[in-house]
Amino acid sequence: MVLLGTVSADNIKKTDAEAKKAIHFENSLVYGSQFAAEDLPHFEMKEEPMPAETAYQLVHDELQGDGSTSLNLATFVTTYMEPQAEKLMMETLAKNIIDAEEYPASQDLSNRCVNMIARLFNAPVNNPDDESLGVSTIGSSEAIILATLAMKRKWQAARKAAGKPHYNPNIVMNSAVQVCWEKAARYLDIEEKYVYCTKDRYVIDPKQAIELCDENTIGVVGILGTTYTGEYEDIKALNDGLEKLQAEKGLDIKIHVDAASGGFVAPFVKPELEWDFRLPRVVSINASGHKYGMTYAGVGWAIWRSKEYLPEELVFHVNYLGAEQASFTLNFSKSATQVIGQYYVLIRNGKSGFRAIMQSITETSDWLAAQLESTGRFVRMNQGGGESLPLVAFRLKEKHHYDEFAIAARLRSRNWIIPAYTMAPHAEDLKLLRVVCRMDFSRSKAAALVRDIVQVCDFLDTQDQDTISAWFKDHQNAKKTNAKARKGTHMNDKHSLQGKHGKTHGIC
Ligand SMILES: *Cc1c(COP(=O)(O)O)cnc(C)c1O
Repeated sequence: MVLLGTVSADNIKKTDAEAKKAIHFENSLVYGSQFAAEDLPHFEMKEEPMPAETAYQLVHDELQGDGSTSLNLATFVTTYMEPQAEKLMMETLAKNIIDAEEYPASQDLSNRCVNMIARLFNAPVNNPDDESLGVSTIGSSEAIILATLAMKRKWQAARKAAGKPHYNPNIVMNSAVQVCWEKAARYLDIEEKYVYCTKDRYVIDPKQAIELCDENTIGVVGILGTTYTGEYEDIKALNDGLEKLQAEKGLDIKIHVDAASGGFVAPFVKPELEWDFRLPRVVSINASGHKYGMTYAGVGWAIWRSKEYLPEELVFHVNYLGAEQASFTLNFSKSATQVIGQYYVLIRNGKSGFRAIMQSITETSDWLAAQLESTGRFVRMNQGGGESLPLVAFRLKEKHHYDEFAIAARLRSRNWIIPAYTMAPHAEDLKLLRVVCRMDFSRSKAAALVRDIVQVCDFLDTQDQDTISAWFKDHQNAKKTNAKARKGTHMNDKHSLQGKHGKTHGIC
């Protein structure tokens, strides 16, 4: 029996690099290999392949530079799913959901999701001749672009039929809209008409919104949970105002509700709130399945009250996949994974599961806000008790020699990702911090956060202004290094509401 291996003379004669490569391929060493000793390709693909395990490990390591998803309290987007959901999603990554003929079961799950979500939003379902419709999208942005396009086409058709000009459409919305609304308007050539926020109103003023409406208005946007403070806009008041407008001036203007964040919260925490298809003027709604719909990034939903609001000319019928099918999307191919994950979440939780989770995080957000206010340092800017999304938008109560941005930057060095930003246009003097409470934000995590916020403020209190400025500049520089690496991208755009008013697009 040979216990000792012999060292091959061949190997020893090779150059170091060759030997390393040989050692790698023979023994699957990742860190002893030439690949670990060199920088990974940034610009040009290499000629030679790399062993799978090495490629996996080195990319995995590279990604350690990202922030922690579970401490990222800046985003509404889901960062936790159950292992069973992940398993299903891994199993279905290879399916292209557009292939309805090949993957009818996946397509069917998508239709089931549309049905369940439409009913959750109280879509009228009793008239078989006029059914509600819906599609899965990549997120609310795609859903919003599709819904805006439908509103524009519907308006144009009505104007043409009446023999009136149909070239100057406009859309009425709050200046605190998410950036995708600016995109929708700009991409589709629609004038943006804004109702501006004030120092103490961050939601749309329904009266002003109605005043902005004219014969060229394709629709009014109501937001169920604004990006800045998570507040629900008064969509009932918009509905009633538009009813009155039609009675008085004959203008028939409808509402689209952006329920990206609130669509899966309000029905469970505040079911009596009328924001959805219960209101006759609401013709379409979008929701992000990947926000409080509790599915990983890449799924949204657009639902229309009836096919009357989805002009037939926008729906394409193709038969290249083996059978005729209707399509209303901006993309063609996409994985079935997210839709399947969404279906899992809907059947797994049921309504009472959703209710329990949404109520629990609402309570956590109220607890967190109470703790922050009890330090005497902060004021909460959004209402609690389920009157807004489960988040805490807050600002410093008094003027200090440091601001909310310094607090956010300091918290970042403790791994918490909490954005500081200035309020929407016309109220941009207000700075605020925002903590989004997602399903995986437990009470004990909230307690740890309060502890850290208090310590950060205590620390900042002891520092003089120059130290804080120097230190803050260093934090900004660290960010600039990244920006430099991305040279060629348009930093600090001056054409968007957010760019013009110094907002970051970082909050979503
Ligand atoms: C997040 C968000 C959007 C954009 O949604 P995506 O799903 O990220 O495309 C639009 N509107 C509001 C109110 C949002 O919160």
